[in-house]
Amino acid sequence: MSVSRKVPEFPVWPQFDDTERAGLTRALDQGQWWRMGGGEVTAFEEEFSAYHGGEYALAVTNGTHALELALQVLGVGPGTEVIVPAFTFISSSQAAQRLGATVVPVDVDPSTYCLDPAATEAAIGPRTKAIMPVHMAGHFADMDALGKLSADSGISLIQDAAHAHGAQWQGRRVAELGSVAAFSFQNGKLMTAGEGGAVIFPEKAQYDEGFLRHSCGRPPGDRGYFHATSGSNFRMTEFSAAVLRAQLARLDVQIALREQRATLLSSLVDEIDGVEAQGRDERCDRNPHYMMMFRVPGITEQRRNELVDALIDRGLPAFAAFRAIYRCPGFWETGAPELSVDQLAARCPNTEAVYADTIWLHHRTLLGTEDQMHLVAEILAETLAAA
Ligand SMILES: *Cc1c(COP(=O)(O)O)cnc(C)c1O
Repeated sequence: MSVSRKVPEFPVWPQFDDTERAGLTRALDQGQWWRMGGGEVTAFEEEFSAYHGGEYALAVTNGTHALELALQVLGVGPGTEVIVPAFTFISSSQAAQRLGATVVPVDVDPSTYCLDPAATEAAIGPRTKAIMPVHMAGHFADMDALGKLSADSGISLIQDAAHAHGAQWQGRRVAELGSVAAFSFQNGKLMTAGEGGAVIFPEKAQYDEGFLRHSCGRPPGDRGYFHATSGSNFRMTEFSAAVLRAQLARLDVQIALREQRATLLSSLVDEIDGVEAQGRDERCDRNPHYMMMFRVPGITEQRRNELVDALIDRGLPAFAAFRAIYRCPGFWETGAPELSVDQLAARCPNTEAVYADTIWLHHRTLLGTEDQMHLVAEILAETLAAA
């Protein structure tokens, strides 16, 4: 039996046009290609922080370095602990581990896949220095509950906003929530220069320290090789910043389109037996939708992986969800010295389910047409029925 099947042709990612081309030429023609010699990085920092309602954005090499730098400025180092969702991309954990801190993986909400506030409170100890909510796929962690926890305990929040460019929580933008936020501009992210990252600090003093540390501890304008603090070279290039300025200008239109498509696709996906789209907390009133995520509750990890392969065969840009961080060998190089995988798994029942039964589609899917959203749901229903 041969059936001619429709293969959806979603828009490509990344997107670019003459604005990026003009930006690259502009950076090139400056004749100086690092931030100390040109104006693109500084201009991008101003535009990016204003867009998120803040003042002190610092552009860096990538999102992993953004987290590392932000954590360092918050005082994270040997002898401290950082609470991180057990379900996230490994950088959330690795950034703290690189600083010599102990990571405490904490369970997530089974509907939004974001850090669970009650489990977070239970994990706080005398050495906890920072709590890192990850806004999974653009959906905010519960910033009311976590903000209260932070205020009551005096422990800093650091938002891993690698998926959350342009997101809003009850009308407030990422930099209006009072805590440090770290972003990524890696190739797949919602705006990109191939690689890149940024930290938005709430306070000028934090920005100043971040600036020193991201430039080998060297004060701006120094000519005497006077390195005031420890640090590394996390400086963004002028080319990256020029591209990101063009990408930022396109973000609002893309978010509006993805919001429409995600609302439609979520409702279609929820109608399919045995499938649950990522939930939506009403307080998350602007979701930029990094990834369309859904669960197939009860499916085994192996069958989930086969389902992902089948969806790819049908033309969908499908991926298996992140693995629980404590199930990655790399985590255990420094890891949680007093705990085992089994103990962490027992503490994180939602993570155990979500990492094994969740699938995500690339966000370029959500830049497609309304008809394509129906086609995605059809393909998903057919593929599940055949499995
Ligand atoms: C992409 C990502 C990062 C790291 O960003 P890079 O720019 O790739 O280093 C951090 N946290 C999360 C949740 C991510 O998805």
